[in-house]
Amino acid sequence: MPEQLPEQDGSITHGIRRRLLRFSNPKLSDYVWPLCEIRGSQPGPRLCISAGVHVNEVSAIEAAVRLQRLFDPQEMRGSVEIIPLINQPARFQYSEYVCPIDGRNINFSFPGKPDGSFTEALCDAVTTEWTRGAACYVDLHGGDLREQVAFFSIYQRTGDENFDAEARALAMCFDAEIVVGLPPKHMEQPGRPPTGFARERRFSIMSEAGSHGMVEHDAVEYHVGGVLNIARHIGVLPEARSQFARGRAPCDDYIWVDSPEDGEFHALVDPGCQVTKGQQLGTIYSLFGEPLAPVVAPVDGLMLWRMTHPTLKAGMATLAIAVEERQ
Ligand SMILES: [Zn+2]
Repeated sequence: MPEQLPEQDGSITHGIRRRLLRFSNPKLSDYVWPLCEIRGSQPGPRLCISAGVHVNEVSAIEAAVRLQRLFDPQEMRGSVEIIPLINQPARFQYSEYVCPIDGRNINFSFPGKPDGSFTEALCDAVTTEWTRGAACYVDLHGGDLREQVAFFSIYQRTGDENFDAEARALAMCFDAEIVVGLPPKHMEQPGRPPTGFARERRFSIMSEAGSHGMVEHDAVEYHVGGVLNIARHIGVLPEARSQFARGRAPCDDYIWVDSPEDGEFHALVDPGCQVTKGQQLGTIYSLFGEPLAPVVAPVDGLMLWRMTHPTLKAGMATLAIAVEERQ
């Protein structure tokens, strides 16, 4: 049980250590975070991996657990650190999207603020304390209770050509259907880890796969395989890169499509599919089964995910579309 592990700081020279991490910010002092540290016998880059920002995205959490046994300190350079469940206050509460202490979504609060709310302090601790000096931070997601997501990865574009090329190469390490480079305007506000990190020209990648709060073999394999490829890409692992089976369609925008009415959303298209501007993607029905409004694609693109529970309020997201890069 994690509760029996030691809480201690300092580092091992090489080998594997499991411990409970306590962050220095007193706002976070009621919680500890299970951390697996794997240090190679040779010096090299540091790779940080997490899951469980959204606690029902269990394929991602399972991948972060399995990854702890897939790095051999004798065969690797540098170090790998894994926190399999970031949203500790939500554990055993199964909260969708938010941290129950302040009701905020950790995923949209990076880089965080040390003097902000619990969520903001946690994002700051992840950004400035745990992952400080890391070559890359990878956060694994996908498949909350009411959603189905495509196999996709996310990086942040900045307008700096060299940074963007490397961020994209890291995101391309995942055997994704879709690889989304978020537009630079995302950096104007708190955002996902790739966004918060890119402000400081640091690398962070997100992977998404899974559905309905279920552990799914293909989704777990997707997350695990992508992280191992990133470890190869940055030089933690020696082996050659693996082959890719999915299309890794490069995209440069991420568009949310909201429900036009309160009602029951019945989708016509699945995640991963191509959609065209003006195409009807579904219909909002009343509880009497009467059609109230169509849900229409505002752009050409590829569907990233959709909600699977039909009941949605007007203004809630029904689905999201990634816009393909134009050559
Ligand atoms: Zn998520």
